Amino acid sequence: MKQRMRVLISGASIAGPALAYWLHRHGFDVTVIERAPALRTGGYGVDIRGVAITVLEGMGGILDQVREADTNMTGVYFVNSKGKIEGQISEASMGNHQGLDIEIMRDDLCHILYDLTKDTVEYIWGDSITAIHETEAGAEVQFMYCKPQTFDLVIGADGLHSNVRTLTFGDEAQFKRTLGCYISIFTLENYLNLDHRQLLYTIPGKTVGMYSARNNTEARGMFLFQSEALKYDRYDTEAQKKLVENAFVGHTGWETSNLLKTMKDATDFYFDEICQIHMPTWSKGRVTLLGDAAYGPSPLSGQGSSLALVGAFVLAGELKAADCDFTRAFVAYEQKMRKFVEKNQKIGLMAAGSMIERSNFKIFLRNLMFRVPILMVVSFKMISKMIAKAANGIELKDY
Ligand SMILES: Cc1cc2nc3c(=O)[nH]c(=O)nc-3n(C[C@H](O)[C@H](O)[C@H](O)COP(=O)(O)OP(=O)(O)OC[C@H]3O[C@@H](n4cnc5c(N)ncnc54)[C@H](O)[C@@H]3O)c2cc1C
Repeated sequence: MKQRMRVLISGASIAGPALAYWLHRHGFDVTVIERAPALRTGGYGVDIRGVAITVLEGMGGILDQVREADTNMTGVYFVNSKGKIEGQISEASMGNHQGLDIEIMRDDLCHILYDLTKDTVEYIWGDSITAIHETEAGAEVQFMYCKPQTFDLVIGADGLHSNVRTLTFGDEAQFKRTLGCYISIFTLENYLNLDHRQLLYTIPGKTVGMYSARNNTEARGMFLFQSEALKYDRYDTEAQKKLVENAFVGHTGWETSNLLKTMKDATDFYFDEICQIHMPTWSKGRVTLLGDAAYGPSPLSGQGSSLALVGAFVLAGELKAADCDFTRAFVAYEQKMRKFVEKNQKIGLMAAGSMIERSNFKIFLRNLMFRVPILMVVSFKMISKMIAKAANGIELKDY
């Protein structure tokens, strides 16, 4: 490499620290800036499968740590308003290949990636980029709090509502494809004593869930509901909790009332629109995007973290291979990733149609299907195959 390039990454969740690891390994000087004052906790389990596991394998021995933190969930159980189980899907039938694929709590994965990089990468917490101006010499970056600095490259790994994307490409509405629903997730006590299982209660247009976490020592509550576009402040948690409450007004079946009450006190409440990001290009000048910021497939796809891990590996590898010619590297990154991204985004579209049922009749049909094993086996085999194909849909180069 001609000179040590300075790279600024916005976002310290999955994509940011994973890219920081690979860039540091390839000889880049890396700074990560995160808007939150510390690593953001919260969220459900995320899946890692296919080539993303190969990527983890090469990351300084963390694959064992990630496997140890596997949630070891056994399956999803659908309950009626009285809590009676009406049907069940095993993890294997949801496309998870036991012993190969991994499901890990999102924040456990964040911590592992952060621990891997914290001694070699500079992390800045509680700050955000306010402007990026490109000059011959580099990208001059201004921050909310830190002094302006010049970097060779700026990477937006700052999620669905990416700040770097807005600063570089404009309003997110151009790129957001809504899937018509909203999700909220929060931590609570495992008061139902769930044993490595998830319970889902479905009513038309809405789903309520509870999921045991960290070897049943705690749980996550979930509300998912269809809605027209909602206007709200993304940093006003109380207003978002009110939106969830409003969506479930008058619904008291199963644990709905208890979960709504618990949600009010949750400190790691997560709320977002279920949407995907589709962009004609992810790069402009010295800036490129990674993970959800560029190609979020939606949490329902289960593929967001795998895409982020693979994207980080490919982007860093192409930057190394192009020997600092970032224009060439960004083109190669997009060419390698685009088809892989598209296949995985398709899973998100498919899942959106199955997590929420639109009518009582559809719920009845679904429950009926659970009682006809052959139907279950055939349909889940097809889904498993599609997920496995998408998750392996890229050939990794040895950079
Ligand atoms: C709190 C939380 C909970 C989640 N829960 C789930 C879940 O249950 N299931 C699921 O499938 N996916 C979940 N996701 C999304 C999932 O993490 C991603 O789909 C996937 O891992 C790809 O990660 P990413 O790093 O690209 O984006 P994200 O994980 O969304 O991370 C983006 C990071 O950028 C930071 N950021 C945002 N704005 C700025 C800014 N202006 N400056 C600097 N940093 C900024 C955010 O605080 C965050 O740390 C969650 C994300 C978050 C942030």
